[in-house]
Amino acid sequence: MKFDSTNDPSLTAFFDIPADSHFPIQNLPFGIFRPGLKRAPRAGVAIGEYVLDLSVLQDLKFFEGPRLINQDVFNRRYLNPFMDLGKEARIEARQYISDLLSGKNPLLKDDESLRKRALVPMHEVVLELPVEIGDYTDFYSSREHATNVGTMFRGKDNALQPNWLHIPVGYHGRSSSVVISGTNLNRPMGQTIAPDADSPTFGPSRLVDFELEMGFFVSDANKLGSRIPMKDAEDYIWGLSLVNDWSARDIQKWEYVPLGPFLAKNFGTSVSPWIITPEALAPFRTEGPKQTEPEVLDYLKPNRPDQTYDIHLEVAIQGEKMDAPHRVCASNFKYLYWSMAQQLVHHAVTGCNMRTGDLLASGTISGQTPDSYGSMLELSWRGENPLKFPNGEERKFLQDGDTVIMTGWAQGEGYRIGFGECEGKLLPVQKE
Ligand code: CA
Repeated sequence: MKFDSTNDPSLTAFFDIPADSHFPIQNLPFGIFRPGLKRAPRAGVAIGEYVLDLSVLQDLKFFEGPRLINQDVFNRRYLNPFMDLGKEARIEARQYISDLLSGKNPLLKDDESLRKRALVPMHEVVLELPVEIGDYTDFYSSREHATNVGTMFRGKDNALQPNWLHIPVGYHGRSSSVVISGTNLNRPMGQTIAPDADSPTFGPSRLVDFELEMGFFVSDANKLGSRIPMKDAEDYIWGLSLVNDWSARDIQKWEYVPLGPFLAKNFGTSVSPWIITPEALAPFRTEGPKQTEPEVLDYLKPNRPDQTYDIHLEVAIQGEKMDAPHRVCASNFKYLYWSMAQQLVHHAVTGCNMRTGDLLASGTISGQTPDSYGSMLELSWRGENPLKFPNGEERKFLQDGDTVIMTGWAQGEGYRIGFGECEGKLLPVQKE
């Protein structure tokens, strides 16, 4: 069963929402916002051009379902207390909010003063990082991306390392520098080594890049020492956001042996503000690439074939001298070799405890064609084929002042489940 009463394509809100909106009534993504700069952060749901203030509904004791009654989870700085209640509470909230916004439940539709308080115009709100992120892990789950990078650094014959088709490869990242979309980042300083040099130098990274990724937030999954069986894994995938895992390629190349990326990835990671739920994405489930050559080990075998989603993804760049963003890449979430469930199961298989608010990102999502590559490293093929922009400028990697804008959506019939934008500008190196 793909559709339930909350994602029925014929469902409409009691007010107008444009057909190309990222936030129709079938979406209902959760986030954290301030209704104005001086107001306290609280939980909200994006709906068309508005944000529904869940703290107002909570104060009026609207949430009467068994999982949410008497729960003080929406008047908070982060979604973590709500996420901690698990999947069933999320589904309960979604059903209730869907009924309110469709008018099936008339409490909001028929109360003008409540509508004014609870529906805040999107352009008036300040969006905040929605989750207090405990741990951040970044995977490397696109076969095309791993093959492209491996080809550049080790040659075609050794492109994929021997472990890659057996293990969802990843590394433990840094959560302190995960920032909300709209936060600008400085070009990092670091050690790099010129191709013919014997010793490194210290200075600004010259090869700053974006990485088009999808992240998911975990709700409390397993205790230390226990594992997550594949059949339960999706229960703990609370929701998805776009991720830009900014990378300094020259720092990365010098530092990554033997323990993998370190400073090349820790100067900033951007996430989009709205968390898209598995319920909104359910109609877009699809199969990922076949995993038969080789077969994966039993603990990683999917319990259902359609463990991924058909989500169109795009990246655009706007330099300071450009009039508009220019699209440089179009990819799809379904290209990923390893599913989110496999990433989560593998992460916890040693008994590593996964906690509410942990962020797991996919790794760069590249497809098979050159216009689907999810990083500048691949799009310009290490700088050999510079990208050309409509105003005549070229790019091998990002320049100071470049804004990177990622977006994505799942296209339904007459509506789209959008992710909004994950956007950030690269500023010059910060003066000491
Ligand atoms: Ca990455």
